[in-house]
Amino acid sequence: MNPTDKITDTFRLTQKQKDALKKLKLETLEDLLLHVPSRYEDVQSAPSISQIQTNTTVTVYGKIHDVKKTLSWRTKKYVIEAKLSDETATVKLRFFNQVYVEKMLAGEPFAKVTGKLMGKTNKYFANPQFEILPHFTRDSNATLVRIYPESKGITSRWFSVKTDILISQGVHKKIKDPIPKEIIEKYNLPTLSQAILLAHKPRSLKEAEVSQKRFSFDSVFFIQLQKQLQKLNIQSKKTYKINTDSINDFLKLLPFKLTVAQQKAIEDTVSDLQKNQPLSRLIEGDVGSGKTAVVAAVAFATVATTPPEQKAGTLQVAYMTPTEILARQQYQEFISLFKNAIPYKFIRVALLTSSGARVFPSKTNPQEDTKISKTQLIKWVKDGTVAIVVGTHSLIQKNVSFKHLALAIIDEQHRFGIAQRAALAKKDNKIPHLISMTATPIPRTLALTIYGDLDLSIIDKMPPGRKKVITKIATEKQRGDVYKFVEKELKKGRQAYVICPRVQEPDPEKALALRVASAEKEFEKIQKAFPKYKIGLLHGKMNTKEKDEVMSKFVSGEIDILVATTVVEVGVNVKNASVMIIEGAERFGLAQLHQLRGRIKRGAHQPYCFLFTTSSQDINKKRLKIFESTDDGFKLAEYDLKLRGPGELTGSSQWGLSDLAMKALQNLKMVSAAREAALELIRTGKIQNYPELLSKIEKTDLHFE
Ligand code: ADP
Ligand code: MG
Repeated sequence: MNPTDKITDTFRLTQKQKDALKKLKLETLEDLLLHVPSRYEDVQSAPSISQIQTNTTVTVYGKIHDVKKTLSWRTKKYVIEAKLSDETATVKLRFFNQVYVEKMLAGEPFAKVTGKLMGKTNKYFANPQFEILPHFTRDSNATLVRIYPESKGITSRWFSVKTDILISQGVHKKIKDPIPKEIIEKYNLPTLSQAILLAHKPRSLKEAEVSQKRFSFDSVFFIQLQKQLQKLNIQSKKTYKINTDSINDFLKLLPFKLTVAQQKAIEDTVSDLQKNQPLSRLIEGDVGSGKTAVVAAVAFATVATTPPEQKAGTLQVAYMTPTEILARQQYQEFISLFKNAIPYKFIRVALLTSSGARVFPSKTNPQEDTKISKTQLIKWVKDGTVAIVVGTHSLIQKNVSFKHLALAIIDEQHRFGIAQRAALAKKDNKIPHLISMTATPIPRTLALTIYGDLDLSIIDKMPPGRKKVITKIATEKQRGDVYKFVEKELKKGRQAYVICPRVQEPDPEKALALRVASAEKEFEKIQKAFPKYKIGLLHGKMNTKEKDEVMSKFVSGEIDILVATTVVEVGVNVKNASVMIIEGAERFGLAQLHQLRGRIKRGAHQPYCFLFTTSSQDINKKRLKIFESTDDGFKLAEYDLKLRGPGELTGSSQWGLSDLAMKALQNLKMVSAAREAALELIRTGKIQNYPELLSKIEKTDLHFE
C-alpha cells in the first residue's frame, strides 16, 4: 500500500461510501490518513453501568440492543424501549413521545448516553440524550473513541477501522513531510508521520493535542505561504506611477484635522507608492473612524497625476461598494470633498450602478451633478474623460473599461477579491493599486494571516468628540419601559432600528425562511407596540430593489422604525437614527453586535442601544456585560475570538477556511509562529528548495474572498 493509492482500489466500498468520500474530497490513502478526528470521547474515565446511582445525572457508554416499540395503556402514546449494556451491567432506556429514535437505535450501535437514572428496582433513563459512536472494547488500548468529520453514508467507525489498517501497514511513514525539517525542529512540532499516528491512535488526550498542534500549524502555515506568494506575484506586475506631492494641498482643504491614525494610514500608503510596484493595502477601522478621508487623499493624488506620455488628462480611480445605497452615499461624499479641492472642470466624478449613471459637475450648473445615460458614462470612462467612478459591481462588468485605471478602492473588503482586481486590470497589462477598507475589527495577527496578501493599516482611534452609545441589557419585564423610552425619542423626531434575533440553522434555505418568519413576527409586534408610527421591514429574502426602497424611505425619514435582520446595510449613514433594539442579543458575536451598534453612532444625537436576551447562561451574561461596558471594537473582537472562534468576527465564516484552520486561528501565538516561519522561507528564497511544499500550496484549495 502506498500513500498515492486510491481508496477505491484499496478497500471494497458501497456506492454510498464512495459518494461520501467524494463529498469529503478524500481520494487517496494519504487523504484518508490526513482526515483526522475532530474530537475524541474519553470512554475510560466514564463510570461503568454497574457504578451508576439512581437520581444522578451521568454519562455512560455501551451497546444498544433489544429496541422495541410499546403503546402505553395509560397515556395512549408510544414508548420506545431499549437496553444499554457494557461489560458490567445492563440498564433500560425509555423514550416517550419520540417514535423516531427507534430507527436511530437500530442495528445495535455503540452509544454515549447522558441522563438521570430513575426508578428503584426497575432502573431506567427517561428520555436521555444519546449519540451513536464507533464501537470499541474497553479492554483494548483504544480508550479514546475517535470522532471523525463525517458525511452521510460513512461513519466514524469506518474511518477508525480503515485508518487502523493503514497505520498497521506503515502507510503513514511513506508520506513525505512537506514542512522543512528546520521548521519542525524550531517550533517543536511532531513530524507528519508522528502526527498522523497520534491523531488516529492517541493513548491520551494529551497525545491527541500534540497532533492537533501540528495540523493547526500546517493549516496556518499553508495559508500564509499562499498569501505571501500571491503578494509576490502582484508585486512583480506593472502599474502606474502616482505622484503624491499634491496630497498635502488636499489635506489642507479638509474641514477637520486628521487623527494620528488617519495620518499614519496616509503615510504608509504614500511610502508604498514610492516603491513603484502595485500597492495592496487594507485599511481597517471602526465605523466612523474616518476611512473615507484617507482614501480620498490617495484618490486625489491619483487624479492629480497626468498619465504617462500624455500632456494632459488624469489617471483614473474606481471606487467599489457592496450596495447601491452606499455607492450613492460615497459618490456624494466624494463630490463634497473634491468640490473645493480642485478646479473641477478638469476632474469629473461619476456614479455607476445598475439603476443608472450620474456625473459631477453638470455642464449647466457646475455646483451640481446631473443624470446621464449609462452609455455616455461608459464612453467617458473609456476615453478617460471621467476621473473617478463610484459604483457597485457594475464597475467590473465586461462593457466597462478604463483608459488609465491606476487605483481601485474597495469598500468592505471581504466582498471583493483577487478575481475582481484582475477583472479591473483587464485593459492594459498594468494592474491598478488597490486599497481595501473594512469596518470589521479583526485583531492584527489574525488580519495579517487571512489578508496576508495585503499590507495593513489600522485606524484604531476615533475622531474627537464622538458620542458613546449608551448600551443597556434589558429583561423581558423592562420591555414596556424600553418601548416607552423609544417612543419618547421618536417624539423628539429620532428614528430607531429593531434587529431581529439571529437564526442559526445549517441548511441555508431553511435558515433564510426561518429568519424571514422571525422578522415578520417582529414587524407585527412592533406595529402593535407603536401604532402611531410608520414601521418598515428589511430582510434577506427581499430583492435589491425592494431593499433599496425601504432603506431610502428610512433615510428620508418616511419610516420611523426599521425592523431588520442583519442585512441592514453595512456603513449606511442615517444620521437621525439614534436608537437600536437588538433582540436575542446573545446569539450574535460581539464584533457583529458592535457593527450593528455602529449604525446609530453617525449623528449629533445621543445614541441608545438596548439588548434583549432570553439566555440565563453565565457565559452569555458575561459577554453582553462586556459589550455593555466597552466601545472598543478590537477589544470585543479579541474577546470573541478567544471565546467563540474567528467565524464570529464577521457573523459567519466568510473566509472559506476549513474548520481546522478556523480553530487554529484562535491561537494567536501559534498564528504568529506559523506566519513567521512562512515569511522566513520566502524572505530567504529557501522556498524554492521545497518543491513538495509549493505543489501542496497549489493543490490546497483556499478560496477566500
Ligand atoms: P468610515 O470609517 O466609517 O468610512 P467616514 O470616513 O465616513 O467613516 O467618516 C465618518 C465621519 O467622520 C464623516 O462625517 C467624516 O467627515 C468625519 N471625520 C473623518 N475624519 C475626521 C476627523 N479627523 N475629525 C473630525 N471628523 C472626521
Ligand atoms: Mg465608510
